[in-house]
Amino acid sequence: MAVTAPAATLEPPVALIAEITHRCPLSCAYCSNPLELERSAAELGTSDWLRVIEEAAALGVLHLHFTGGEPLARRDLATLVRHAAALQLYTNLITSGVQLDDRAMLALAEAGIDHIQLSFQDVEPERGDASGGLKGGHARKLAAAARIVAAQVPLTLNFVVHRGNIDRIPAMIALGERLGASRIEIAHVQYHGWALLNRASLLPTAEQLAVATAGVGAARARLGSRIPVDYVLPDYFATRPKACMGGWGRRAMNISPSGKALPCHAAESLPGFDFPSVRDTSLGAIWNGSEAFARFRGTDWAPEPCRSCKHLEADLGGCRCQAFALTGEAARTDPACKLSPDHHIVRQAIADAVAANDLQPRRIGLFGRAATR
Ligand code: SF4
Ligand code: SF4
Repeated sequence: MAVTAPAATLEPPVALIAEITHRCPLSCAYCSNPLELERSAAELGTSDWLRVIEEAAALGVLHLHFTGGEPLARRDLATLVRHAAALQLYTNLITSGVQLDDRAMLALAEAGIDHIQLSFQDVEPERGDASGGLKGGHARKLAAAARIVAAQVPLTLNFVVHRGNIDRIPAMIALGERLGASRIEIAHVQYHGWALLNRASLLPTAEQLAVATAGVGAARARLGSRIPVDYVLPDYFATRPKACMGGWGRRAMNISPSGKALPCHAAESLPGFDFPSVRDTSLGAIWNGSEAFARFRGTDWAPEPCRSCKHLEADLGGCRCQAFALTGEAARTDPACKLSPDHHIVRQAIADAVAANDLQPRRIGLFGRAATR
């Protein structure tokens, strides 16, 4: 691992995002996981993860997010949650819910899970099953939501929205209310990894987006603080990008299934990086000394027009992975910004988006052997 002198005032990451597996029983066309997935044989073992969790607590991490793929594909999930809870980490499970049966829910509740984020592909069984590629998947999710609420674990319902389902946002919010969600998240597709392949069929129209945004506003006014509704304008339609991940190497650390430490889950797509592994380097040494984490940390790397822009401290020039995916260079202004010399690429993508019906489902499988593309 290339090591640089740590910044004197470097705060520890707030969150560790533990991608404990890429395996998944669903096949969402909007999946933003990388094109090349890590196979089950390459996954970190239980003892590795237990050590990583201890290192996270020692480093000062507060939140531990278990994600994937589908974290419930691993049998040791409850063991990992229990260990994190004992170390006073706030634990969040991000799941599709289709494997969250009574036994799994009981094990997680006993282990001390603090929060579960449950994703739905749509609001009706037929559409949800078609989008997730699993017959009966929607019904299993409904049952999972009921189990989470019965176990008194706070539930966030997550809907990834795109051209094919964005018109049903009011029904999504109504479903969240009905299921007893304590929070609802309406998330636009992030065009990384597999989702980028399907972008032309997933991007909504400007008209759809305007109606959707107004619908969220109305729901927020009605629900107030009783059920917060999280929603942000998608990058492609915003005039300025967001500070991706709260800033490269600033607030979060992502660990891939095989143990690669990344500033965000899409960063693996960037060439010219030597991302360290938690198999041979401690989290603290990675956070404080890795050249890969330092390269885009802060604003020193920023090119024009960001360098002389008043918004730089707020958005940090946007997303490095998006800049690379759209321009071939990670160190350029995010093309989502209207000031970027590459903004025409985003405008063109919107213009090229068609009401196509040729979505390529992501097929991953639960055994890590299925084709990645
Ligand atoms: S296929 Fe769907 S549920 Fe599985 S990891 Fe991708 S987005 Fe998540
Ligand atoms: S030019 Fe750079 S800093 Fe300014 S708004 Fe755009 S992305 Fe942000």
